[in-house]
Amino acid sequence: MFGKSIKLFKLFGFEVRIDLSWIIIAILIAWSLSIGFFPFHFKNLSVQAYWSMGIVGALGLFLSVVFHELCHSLVARRYGIPIKGITLFIFGGVAEMDEEPRSPQAEFMMAIVGPLSSILIALVAYGVYAVGKAGGWAVPVVGVIEYLSMINGLLAAFNLVPAFPLDGGRVLRSVLWGLKGNIRWATQVSSWIGEAFGILLVALGVVGFVRGNFVGGMWWFLIGLFLHNAAKMSYRQLMVRRALEGEPIGRFMEPNPVTVPPSISVEQLVEDYIYKYHFKMFPVVDSERLIGCVTTRQVREIPREEWSQRTVGGLAAECSMDNTIEPNADATKALSVMSRTGASRLMVTEKGRLLGMITLKDLMKFLALKVELED
Ligand SMILES: [Zn+2]
Repeated sequence: MFGKSIKLFKLFGFEVRIDLSWIIIAILIAWSLSIGFFPFHFKNLSVQAYWSMGIVGALGLFLSVVFHELCHSLVARRYGIPIKGITLFIFGGVAEMDEEPRSPQAEFMMAIVGPLSSILIALVAYGVYAVGKAGGWAVPVVGVIEYLSMINGLLAAFNLVPAFPLDGGRVLRSVLWGLKGNIRWATQVSSWIGEAFGILLVALGVVGFVRGNFVGGMWWFLIGLFLHNAAKMSYRQLMVRRALEGEPIGRFMEPNPVTVPPSISVEQLVEDYIYKYHFKMFPVVDSERLIGCVTTRQVREIPREEWSQRTVGGLAAECSMDNTIEPNADATKALSVMSRTGASRLMVTEKGRLLGMITLKDLMKFLALKVELED
């Protein structure tokens, strides 16, 4: 469900996308507003009125979250941190950062602007609501505006909880980082709080469920689970990134890899290479010339009885961004290619020539040693 996102529009040069999970969440929000929140707070309206309010309310929430993320992105850009785009998913959005902020000040400004933008929407909406109420606007219109004021206030409050990676957790991290000058320690402390807060929300969700508040309980449960996981992951990611940052691929490269000639049959490939070396991918080389690579995944797609007739050359995939990397690239780049494609081996190439191979196993070994020695 995650990772499949749809491009919506461009705003100030940032691509706004929604994750497919968000569509389900949007329907859930519209539904719970239409049958729960609005009928409870505004009595004696028609079913159509409640559903219109629910749908407009969900749409308003969506635009509020886009505005919130846009503010993060604009400040990030001001501090020179590249933002790929804004993706809305399960509970809110993420401005996709490729790098960590470079200074505690940059992180502080980037993080705090999120809750501030939500507070701004809450105040503006409250002003419009007050005008509308005094002016005798229709109840559904006033109701939706009141809801948007409240939900943005809630969003700001929730995001200010100092639980990493929520905005408040980032604010806390930037302050701790600024105080001690140690981003690792600062991330550790703020993500511990993030994990603990996640567990607390899950517990609250369970209590809500037991007490019969199914919709509310489900929300807290999901958000808690998500936050707990995100806190854990972001600390790990930081550790890996810091350990591998600035380490050129060349250091981990195996310089004389096993290669396969294109003329052999798939049968020979399986018997003499895959079962012998236990690798999932082999570069295909024809007298020094790199043709591409062949993987176990491709072999699996060929019926067993055709193995003796088909050649490796006919099966090989061309070299691309997904299976090659240049020798002076950062090790973090290799890792991100591997996590994007699911490949555990990449060919190190320079001007179409095969220099060697880099494997996830070797990267992990290095990582483990570095953590052991420098921790
Ligand atoms: Zn935010």
